Amino acid sequence: MTRISYDDICAWLREDDPDRLASLWERADTVRRETVGDAVHLRGLLEISNHCCRMCTYCGLRAGNRKLRRYRMDEGEIMSSVFNALMAGYGTVVLQAGEDYGIEGLWLADIVRRIKSETPLAVTLSMGERPQKDLVLWRDAGADRYLLRFETSDPVLYPLIHPSAPDRHQHRVDIVRQLKQIGYETGSGIMIGIPGQGYESLARDIHLFEALDLDMIGVGPYIPHPDTPMGRNELKKLPAAEQVPNTELMTYKVIALTRMVCPEANIPATTALATVNRTEGIKTGLRRGANIVMPNLTPVQYRSLYEIYPEKGCIEGPSGASGVIDPRSLYNLYQRLHDIGRTVGDGQGNRRRG
Ligand code: SAH
Repeated sequence: MTRISYDDICAWLREDDPDRLASLWERADTVRRETVGDAVHLRGLLEISNHCCRMCTYCGLRAGNRKLRRYRMDEGEIMSSVFNALMAGYGTVVLQAGEDYGIEGLWLADIVRRIKSETPLAVTLSMGERPQKDLVLWRDAGADRYLLRFETSDPVLYPLIHPSAPDRHQHRVDIVRQLKQIGYETGSGIMIGIPGQGYESLARDIHLFEALDLDMIGVGPYIPHPDTPMGRNELKKLPAAEQVPNTELMTYKVIALTRMVCPEANIPATTALATVNRTEGIKTGLRRGANIVMPNLTPVQYRSLYEIYPEKGCIEGPSGASGVIDPRSLYNLYQRLHDIGRTVGDGQGNRRRG
């Protein structure tokens, strides 16, 4: 059932009147409270490798970026970070990386099996467009969820921002459908304000979230990286009246509309939002439809190397080789949630179905 029509989505995306927007925030917050409640689930984000074989024109990890020093975490480093997540009280660990075939299917399957047998954590993977056999292997090893943003569903824009691998031409939307069939809780999402993205195209993306019946939806503003073709302005913008801006405000509109089209989905206030507004971004996202926060668990020596875009902000999670949890950062997060009337979720925070 469509709860909000495509035309309404288009109109809201162009809406600038503060009073009317206040009513959109209010509606989204009400839907959020009535469907997923006040608990905010914390997912510890562990960026296990910045190697990547792909040439996405927006991302600093792209294979063509020779300036970036590359790293890949070993099993011991991954497991100690996973235990940090557990000690900090999170219910999920998210393992994310560039599309890195130095991460072998069987190697990661063993790690997933270890995490599932040694902890009560849910495991989310975000390893790019891996072949079906790896996706099945990891699911069989116990991985619960998989994140793969389709970035844009626009047929003209998609190949410009996301060149296919030489031997594969599968669209990410089709891989998302495949992930659901394999049995993952499936997450996807988009970037907001990439050059060439028009309002109607963005509205179609939001509409597609609903058609795909996604369990998790991550959206964030596009942030230019100077060592990428898109960051060097090699992609054409649309005329100002058509081009979606990559702003904080537009991100809130998309979060709120996403909550309305997919009331039960888990929707994070993302790192990119924390980057464009370090003090208020997460809090405001949570008040306009979001219900998930993803604190960063990546060991400090690797953090700055996972540079998908510059000056990446984050919610501080426990990290560092010492495994020491800084109680101030934990307290700070709990306090910020408490300030806006929210609690920290117990357990894994799986998708609810009403
Ligand atoms: N290799 C994995 C993980 C990529 S990083 C994958 O491709 O799925 C996770 C997300 O960061 C991407 O899906 C993209 O939406 C976002 N991202 C990458 N570069 C970005 C940029 N310059 N600005 C904003 N978000 C970006």
